[in-house]
Amino acid sequence: MRLLIDGAMVWDGTGAPPFPGKVLIEDERIAAVAPRDENVASNGAERIDAAGKFLMPGMVEGHAHLSFVDTPRGTALGELPPEDHALLTMDAARKLLSAGFTSACSAAAAKIRLDVAVRDAIDRGMTEGPRLLAASPELTVTGGLGDGRKLHLHQDSFGVAVDGPDEVRRMARLCLREGVDMIKLNISGELGTDSAPAVAAVMTDAEVAAGVEAAHTAGRRAAAHARASDSVKRALRHGVDVIYHCDYADAEALDLLEAAKDRVFTGPAIGLTISRLESLRGDNTAEGRRYLERLMPQFETTCRTHNEMRKRGIRIVIGGDYGFSINPQGTNARDLHHFVTHFGFSPSEVLQAATRTGGEIMQRGHELGLIKQGYLADLLLVDGDPLKDVRLLQDRKRFTWIMKGGVRYQPCEGAPHVRRLNDQVAAA
Ligand SMILES: [Zn+2]
Repeated sequence: MRLLIDGAMVWDGTGAPPFPGKVLIEDERIAAVAPRDENVASNGAERIDAAGKFLMPGMVEGHAHLSFVDTPRGTALGELPPEDHALLTMDAARKLLSAGFTSACSAAAAKIRLDVAVRDAIDRGMTEGPRLLAASPELTVTGGLGDGRKLHLHQDSFGVAVDGPDEVRRMARLCLREGVDMIKLNISGELGTDSAPAVAAVMTDAEVAAGVEAAHTAGRRAAAHARASDSVKRALRHGVDVIYHCDYADAEALDLLEAAKDRVFTGPAIGLTISRLESLRGDNTAEGRRYLERLMPQFETTCRTHNEMRKRGIRIVIGGDYGFSINPQGTNARDLHHFVTHFGFSPSEVLQAATRTGGEIMQRGHELGLIKQGYLADLLLVDGDPLKDVRLLQDRKRFTWIMKGGVRYQPCEGAPHVRRLNDQVAAA
């Protein structure tokens, strides 16, 4: 299969300005990139007239929870039978692809095998979805974020409660045996989880060390939910690879993050926070007002921290805990505008976070996230210029097509799914 995309403004993901160009696709990869007036040996290629359109790399969701299926509460995920839950997760994968995301790095699954099964189904071409790195459920301490149990009532949620290094190690090994790419550790708590607040590092050094060691021994990675400053430092001390949130990182934690910036990735997962702030502003109950009063200062801290992290060149990915009823799957591109509005990113900088840095967090920076010869042909052909306004990427109708591995998909009208425009089977 040879395809010549001719005449689009090509934005390659490096931060260089876009130029009118030609991109030649051969099977699943980019064979050539050239300015429009240069010759490209495109004999026999099908030509696509893309004049007036904007061509960019496919976006990468850096904090995906495909098995969070738009329920209002975490414990509602625990109530879902695994069979139904797998199908709903598959559906979320289609939604994410139709929203312009050709890759996703999972930040936790709600059950051990959900990400694994859906990742494999996508790779085998059984269903449409982004390239997916599968995560474990959130390994959390008793009373931590994701422990939905009550003393009188067993209630599953999205976490698995483990206490002490032996339990963490055993559960991490079990998840690794079942095929996850990443172990998720909830080192800090969360606002609203009273026994484990966001400002507390509730998972101990020994527990974190055991989880990371298990992941690394198996050649996989570890990620952390880490809002508290001490939890960021603990994650860094034990070699966690992806450190999410980092809201309360103090000067020392920021220095340590900066020193490790070639090794670690971070991501604020701001989408859920902003959607919650928006919904709380319309909530006049005493409980709603109390929650807003607590969430607002945390949000302001998050903004300060991420402006500082951006200035220090720490790698930050987009992706914001999409998958709850207030911020449903498929609305993930809202994050782009949040980064511009609240963290001081320019449109080009946030689009680089969504593409080049995304390719790196997928551990495929050598072949994913840029429009470059030899790279995988994961592309978006967009009607409009996102460098002028990133919000237009929230509108699926703006995608003439979404290409993953040389296969073109068109967002369906009326449903957040895609249909294939050509039949080549995408390789993983
Ligand atoms: Zn998350």
